Amino acid sequence: MSSYLEGKAAVVTGAGGGIGRAIALALAAEGAKVVVNDLGGGLDGSGASNAPADAVVEEIAEAGGTAVANYDDVSRFDAAGRIIQTSVDAFGGIDILVNNAGISRPGWFYEMEEEDFDAVVNVHLKGTFNCSRHACGPMMERRWGRIVNISSGAGIIGSVERVSYAAAKAGIFGMTNTMSRDLGPFGITVNAVCPGPTDTRMLQNSIRRAKEAEARGDPSSALAGSGLLRVRPYDPEDLAPLVAHLCTEAAGNVNGQVFHSSGSEFGWFQPLHVARAIYTNGRWSQDELAHIMPRSLTRGLQNPAPPA
Ligand code: NAD
Repeated sequence: MSSYLEGKAAVVTGAGGGIGRAIALALAAEGAKVVVNDLGGGLDGSGASNAPADAVVEEIAEAGGTAVANYDDVSRFDAAGRIIQTSVDAFGGIDILVNNAGISRPGWFYEMEEEDFDAVVNVHLKGTFNCSRHACGPMMERRWGRIVNISSGAGIIGSVERVSYAAAKAGIFGMTNTMSRDLGPFGITVNAVCPGPTDTRMLQNSIRRAKEAEARGDPSSALAGSGLLRVRPYDPEDLAPLVAHLCTEAAGNVNGQVFHSSGSEFGWFQPLHVARAIYTNGRWSQDELAHIMPRSLTRGLQNPAPPA
């Protein structure tokens, strides 16, 4: 155990398994006292159980750290308040929040039910708002805070069969950028981390679906060719040090940034910028655009899903 986070109080949502568990263990190993939040439901968000959060609390205690469990649902605003209050009651405040909880309800866009779209957005995007909104007051009082939002490359380049997930993760980038500006003056940093393919039940489910698509020999299924079957997933423990570092004093000036982890390779995303531009005096006509666009702005661009 080292002590980069000695004396800090942390909340990690969805910390009963997968990536959240590894982050909770890493924060505790640096001396933070950790609220291990987890609803304990299925991958699709159904059901609930105290067992996953309890098990991680026990693991942290066995390793010599301090943790308490919370089983509330991040997607409900009042319940998110209880998650943060658990830290205030047990540890006297909150310094660190990692918004990690997530669910998955994959399916083709043209078949997706409203209820499934809402459920995913409510956990990932609304859950990030809910917990951060409750945590920022106590952090602002201390004029110190660290919020790390777990997003995904799916929010940048899109994904197959996961429109709700990609939309929620893209929303988290906008929320991260804006929260970092609103909260920065109070000594609070807000950053996002995008894990590469990481060996958790969420990824295993995607791999299973890709295998099924391949076995069906379904040529229209882009999933079969998505590369998922060729990757060697990373361990959740690989990216946890990056999240822990963003919570330390040393990262105090790192705010509003997006990072990526591919195992032990960590990367920083340059903010989206205009890569090409064309200009005219007045307004473009369709004739002009038909001529110039393929030679300038849209030159060489690839269609990620051309007609089958
Ligand atoms: P996981 O299913 O193992 O972990 C998610 C955890 O969140 C579960 O323990 C679950 O019980 C909990 N949870 C779900 N809904 C909740 C709710 N409403 N309230 C509280 N807890 C809830 O999956 P994971 O892969 O560890 O995912 C963690 C995060 O990492 C997610 O945000 C996911 O989108 C993101 N991510 C994962 C990968 C990957 O390859 N595994 C890649 C990019 C991003």
